[in-house]
Amino acid sequence: MNTSLFSATAGTRNGFSAIDTPDVSAIVPICDEVESLPHLIEAIATTLTSCQLSYEIICVDDGSKDGSAEFLKQQALLRSDLKAVLLRRNYGQTAAMAAGFNYARGKAIVTLDADLQNDPADIPVLLAKLAEGYDMVSGWRKHRKDDTLTRLLPSKIANWLIGRVTGVQLHDYGCSLKAYRAELVADLNLYGELHRFLPALAYIEGARITEMAVGHHSRRYGRSKYGLGRTFRVLMDLLTIWFMKKFLTRPMHVFGLLGLLSMFLGVVLGGYLTFLKLGLGVTIGNRPLLILTVLLLLTGIQLFSFGLLAELLMRTYHESQGRPIYRVREVVEPIVKNS
Ligand code: UDP
Ligand code: MG
Repeated sequence: MNTSLFSATAGTRNGFSAIDTPDVSAIVPICDEVESLPHLIEAIATTLTSCQLSYEIICVDDGSKDGSAEFLKQQALLRSDLKAVLLRRNYGQTAAMAAGFNYARGKAIVTLDADLQNDPADIPVLLAKLAEGYDMVSGWRKHRKDDTLTRLLPSKIANWLIGRVTGVQLHDYGCSLKAYRAELVADLNLYGELHRFLPALAYIEGARITEMAVGHHSRRYGRSKYGLGRTFRVLMDLLTIWFMKKFLTRPMHVFGLLGLLSMFLGVVLGGYLTFLKLGLGVTIGNRPLLILTVLLLLTGIQLFSFGLLAELLMRTYHESQGRPIYRVREVVEPIVKNS
């Protein structure tokens, strides 16, 4: 592997505790994954050690109730390569990842799921691409092991849509196994379900992005934290991103057009009703369906615009206040030893 990205720390390969900037920070968001954790931590450590890279594993516990947090605390005290960041409650995967990004000190940052669906053995493949000069490398689960109807189909549609909207065509936005240069991560602001759109956010920041095929396994322990509801939330975020791209520069191009269209529709329908009443002498009081249509249409536009405004306000709020989207209860890290 071309390790130019990591060359500055050559000679310091004895775990991350001896240096301030490890080569790699592996970030894992965790919600009720206690059975997987021992296997996962070992697998990450084995892979990165065999690549002769200094590393830290940042396990972010996102309000687990199955003893994951306790296990991580214990491991963080035993191991020199693991930092446990325990959130106060469940904030969702995006927030857990944001917390991980915040605590990561590595030159390269890798994210992966805790449930062993991503294979830690694939990490070097992504790192090699980073070393080639990319800022972000996204995993592509070519042979994905998930249920077809509830997962594969919605995500196929989502990938296509996201590709169209954002201009970054990737096969698999949803794959958590990704690698980034640290400088890029510092520019990414996360909230909502935005971890799904990280390649798009990175693209807006001018990042060079590519994807690499990676393995995927079915879940061995526990169960998925998501159902179909996620598809809806992802779609709403997608719409927001699309509007944001336009809205942030020319708000009137969005709201002005919607407003004009709705006014035009109102005028046409009003004209039609007036014609019926005055021209043909028909009573128009008995057309509840028509009135309902107009009402629904206008309410829809209003609600949508308000939702969007609220969304943008939230974004401004988070960004201007620097208010984190999560709260940390405790950070347990190895005691730094000087070598
Ligand atoms: N996760 C989390 N907080 C949540 C939901 C999920 O930190 O509120 C973590 C979870 O423990 C796992 C990763 O996010 O490490 C992906 O979750 P999951 O495996 O349930 O998603 P799927 O693979 O089914 O898309
Ligand atoms: Mg999973």
